[in-house]
Amino acid sequence: MSKFYTFTKTSFVRGMQCRKLVYLDKYCSKLRTPPDKETLLRFRKGREFEQKFKDLFPNAVDVKKHCSLRSIKYVEFTNSVLATKGCVELFEAGVLHGDILVLTDVLRKNEDGTYDVFEVKHSEKINSAIAWDVAVQYYVCKNALGNISSFNVVNRCGEGEFVVTDVTAEVEAKLKLVHENLDAFREILQGFEPDVPMGPQCDEPYVCDFKRYCMAKADTQCSM
Ligand code: SF4
Repeated sequence: MSKFYTFTKTSFVRGMQCRKLVYLDKYCSKLRTPPDKETLLRFRKGREFEQKFKDLFPNAVDVKKHCSLRSIKYVEFTNSVLATKGCVELFEAGVLHGDILVLTDVLRKNEDGTYDVFEVKHSEKINSAIAWDVAVQYYVCKNALGNISSFNVVNRCGEGEFVVTDVTAEVEAKLKLVHENLDAFREILQGFEPDVPMGPQCDEPYVCDFKRYCMAKADTQCSM
């Protein structure tokens, strides 16, 4: 079965780091350098922190536990839960708008039909990657679900405490930019690998896993 979506929040965020990543992620994923021990440890800590926040919602439905690995099931199951009356809370709700799929960490449908969304990040600050991560999630959730009451980032404060920041106004202001960038990304996927020179974007906000590939390519071009 071909994928029913083109972009995820991760692929969008990576595209905002570097246009070339849009193309490489789609067509050359085998060229990535696998994550090192430090990165894997960061991922594990992130998952543990996320779980700690999720423990605050003991009645939530964990969509992942009800679905196979097929992402379409996430969307179908999420829609079936959201169709029930009253307040419901979900982990990893699959929300689809056009060709973009996002899985929200915590999604709450309130009694009045409005929604609250929580994105959990182990970092202490909202960096540019997190800002785009929530911006694309809001874009998808607003278009697919409608009435978003609040969109929140949950950061770490010290050793394991939570700080919840309502970023609804910020992500609302970015709707047009998200839309424009998605259009630009779709165009990139129709063409050739973008010619982007290496620069500060290769290390910010995260070290790019195609660095080895781009450095080898730059060396080849320099020696020609
Ligand atoms: S290494 Fe740098 S130029 Fe190459 S894809 Fe990654 S961010 Fe872009």
